[in-house]
Amino acid sequence: MRELVCIVCPRGCHMKADEELNVTGNACPRGAQYARAELTHPTRVVTSTVRITGAPYTRLPVKTSAPVPKEFIESVMAELCKVTAAAPVHVGDVIIKNILSTGADVVATRELVAK
Ligand code: SF4
Repeated sequence: MRELVCIVCPRGCHMKADEELNVTGNACPRGAQYARAELTHPTRVVTSTVRITGAPYTRLPVKTSAPVPKEFIESVMAELCKVTAAAPVHVGDVIIKNILSTGADVVATRELVAK
């Protein structure tokens, strides 16, 4: 039996899942879906920053446009260390397309104008 906290919404249901992935404790179907995914193929949206030139700040906040497999997180972070964006950047601008062939783009989460 595994215990998990659902992170899909702020209610944070405490759930249990058995070996056959029968889930209890979830207040809605999304919790069971999350629990099964978490136990079979966990994914996460990666949030971080990358270097930026020509802006008032030296770091640009970014995130992946979709969850990536958990085992890719370290490699995604390594790729983010290699990239330097250039101002101006708008929210949603793609900084790295289809990072590591995960199907997710790395996108800007903050607008940074050129200084
Ligand atoms: S199970 Fe449903 S209600 Fe409970 S935290 Fe997850 S999404 Fe929210």
